[in-house]
Amino acid sequence: MQYTELQKMAIDTAGEFTRKKIAPAAGLIDEREEFPLANFKEMGRLGLLGIPYPEKYGGVGLDYVTYSAVVREIAKVCASTAMTMVAHTGLTANPIFNSGTEEQKLKYLKPVASGEKIGAFGLTEPSAGSDISSIQTTAKRREDHYVLNGAKIFITNANVADIFIIAAKTSQEKGMMGISIFILEKGMNGFKSSGKKERKLGMRGSDTGELIFQDVIVPKENLIGKENLGFKILHQTLVSARIGMAAIALGISEGAQRYCLEYVKQRKQFGEYLHHFQSIKNMLADMEMNINAADLLLQKVAVMKDEGRNITKEASEAKLFASETVMKITRDAIQIFGGYGYSQELPLERFFRDAKVTEIGDGTSEIQRLIIANEVIKKT
Ligand SMILES: Cc1cc2nc3c(=O)[nH]c(=O)nc-3n(C[C@H](O)[C@H](O)[C@H](O)COP(=O)(O)OP(=O)(O)OC[C@H]3O[C@@H](n4cnc5c(N)ncnc54)[C@H](O)[C@@H]3O)c2cc1C
Repeated sequence: MQYTELQKMAIDTAGEFTRKKIAPAAGLIDEREEFPLANFKEMGRLGLLGIPYPEKYGGVGLDYVTYSAVVREIAKVCASTAMTMVAHTGLTANPIFNSGTEEQKLKYLKPVASGEKIGAFGLTEPSAGSDISSIQTTAKRREDHYVLNGAKIFITNANVADIFIIAAKTSQEKGMMGISIFILEKGMNGFKSSGKKERKLGMRGSDTGELIFQDVIVPKENLIGKENLGFKILHQTLVSARIGMAAIALGISEGAQRYCLEYVKQRKQFGEYLHHFQSIKNMLADMEMNINAADLLLQKVAVMKDEGRNITKEASEAKLFASETVMKITRDAIQIFGGYGYSQELPLERFFRDAKVTEIGDGTSEIQRLIIANEVIKKT
């Protein structure tokens, strides 16, 4: 990919900050299950949290090509930080930018895109994951406000965020066409995180928690778009967010590959370097091929997104391929390192644990296959 000077500047800034600050903290935040607040705030100051949004809304006026390259750069060393960024920039800022009013953009998008405030996106509930239409959080209209009741689970940044995008039912009986999207602020009466910090297989440096709504009064000005038309906003948001998830998966893959390529030239067994063994070469070949294929799918969808085209199928393809690829690559990377790969002395076991969520978040692999199949059937 040929980057412009501005794109290159943002990617280089991210690369330098990643090397200096994110990489040294990566193992520690995983071990302590600690949200990297100082680094995240610094990313905001460096302009890394509002890459695809205009400057007047707190962003840097770039695009998804740059955003995905930056997410990828960070995920090479710390997928948790990349995941936090994607929930913030991809899931929270995006619906405000695409469907919010000018007032909402100035009041909420600006502090999120600049990193002054942290964002979270609340859709998933105890009984509603893939099946968005079955969410049970309700928003009842009363004169100039809505009253929200319900709960959300598995929400990235739930315990650390200031601004929340929340999906709720405004018409219970209408299923998918009864969903509306609201902006909530930390501290609103009756709105809180349950305090639970989800203990997870991977992405342990990224915060995951629960949100509770008990008669929360939300001004009608905080409704994004039109009442009952939230599904369109959710669809658009989740599709775009898949670019971020694909970039995380690809970044982890590249991080793992980098370790392997160094190691096979250092480690000897039976008097031979590992890279002389055909079975090791096979793994290295598959890694390279799959990374290049995932890269092409990611670049394609990012460019299409920046051109304003429909990316429903391409976003699912990029995310599905990159997430299945990273599972194989991180498994093979541990295999290449043998016992050292399994040990916590090296980050490969962390990469392996972090990789799994890319097959689940922003729509599982099964859902991505449904989307791709439906889109391709629709076209023919
Ligand atoms: C670390 C982490 C962070 C997350 N962050 C957020 C967040 O910030 N905001 C948010 O709203 N959510 C978040 N989630 C939730 C995530 O989006 C959901 O876990 C995901 O959408 C799947 O939903 P579920 O877990 O309820 O699984 P289910 O929907 O119950 O699925 C269970 C299994 O059934 C399969 N399945 C379901 N329906 C079908 C079907 N029609 N056809 C074939 N197979 C099907 C699924 O693929 C899966 O294998 C996060 C999850 C994790 C683990």
